[in-house]
Amino acid sequence: MTIVGVLSEAPGRERRVALTPDAAGRLRDRRVRVVVEAGAGGRAWFGDGDYEAAGAEVVTRDQVYARSDVLLCLHPPDDVAALPEGRVLIGLLDPLGDLGLAERLAAARITAISLDLLPRTLSRAQAMDALTSQANVAGYKAALLAAEAYGGFFPMLVTAAGTTRPAQVLVLGAGVAGLQAIATARRLGALVTGYDVREAALADIASLGASVLRAPHADRSGSDGYARPLAEDEAGAQQAALRAAIPRFDVVITTAKVPGAPAPLLVPAAALAEMRPGSVVLDLAVGNVEGSLPDTRTLTENGVTVIGAPDLAATVPVAASTAYARNAVALLTHLMPDGVLTLDPDDEVQAGVLVCHDGHIVHSRLLKGIR
Ligand code: NAD
Repeated sequence: MTIVGVLSEAPGRERRVALTPDAAGRLRDRRVRVVVEAGAGGRAWFGDGDYEAAGAEVVTRDQVYARSDVLLCLHPPDDVAALPEGRVLIGLLDPLGDLGLAERLAAARITAISLDLLPRTLSRAQAMDALTSQANVAGYKAALLAAEAYGGFFPMLVTAAGTTRPAQVLVLGAGVAGLQAIATARRLGALVTGYDVREAALADIASLGASVLRAPHADRSGSDGYARPLAEDEAGAQQAALRAAIPRFDVVITTAKVPGAPAPLLVPAAALAEMRPGSVVLDLAVGNVEGSLPDTRTLTENGVTVIGAPDLAATVPVAASTAYARNAVALLTHLMPDGVLTLDPDDEVQAGVLVCHDGHIVHSRLLKGIR
């Protein structure tokens, strides 16, 4: 019987756990044994007793390493060197962001599977799409955090003391996180406008009932569905258009990313300087807003709060862990159709996520050294 081990994440801001008790129970139903590091779910309010009630065993970290065939995590563990040879490690390993990690894992003869490399457009991979599930949580939290930091109401409120105007919210980048931020800000009653460089995303913005901001550039969709970087002159025209639009908004949420390139600068200091005191700018991509720093709230000279928030999914640990655990169970079910792990490099999903195996890096993008 295959044993799946669940590791505690490194202490710090990370509060998620890779497998919830409910998901552990689902694996048990598939005749997979689950061992969980004691306290692994604690920061997401999943107690050791909940895992035991679901049929999992709660053990020490060393025992998880010693007994598991497959190890589940979110981030690569700090003690990668402690992983016994031949184990399978599954997580959001970001091997393209840290090429040395893949080399270390291959040298340790670990089979590494990274969910952030999943081919997202394959319909049978959608239940495993952890980037989407976590971006969805981050977009939701972004709207809440921006509403909390903003000194006014998001909705229009009619009271005996008068009527308040609704907040004007602009969301730059309407992928998974941006669309959820738009939907959540609208649910809170704000007047929301969205913007993206992909034409398809503009239709998504409109379908949520938000207004669409248009800037002077061609559709920048790539054949893989992701955005392509703007040419220098287009980026300049984009920044000028955004700079003209931004001052009328109370809240700006930015989520724009381009695979393999730095996050584009969309809100330069000059645009911040023209915003009203009390406005809020929240940068999920940390790079879209000039001067934003990760996990930091700063106040500009003219009273604009700038928040850099790269890991918001980690701050909604119950929802984010639940979604991630479902993605992990879907992947494990795919890898272990009969309860036994079977690697098949010809399978499109597996070829997409397999980083290294048998002492070698095998992923085509890593081998080419491209992002
Ligand atoms: P992402 O996190 O890479 O980027 C976020 C958004 O930023 C994207 O919408 C992108 O177009 C936008 N962006 C990039 N440069 C910009 C710029 N200069 N100005 C403004 N916006 C800019 O993207 P994501 O949210 O992970 O996914 C993006 C798209 O990928 C989805 O909307 C979809 O088309 C595709 N996708 C498909 C599936 C699927 O087929 N199941 C699943 C997930 C994502």
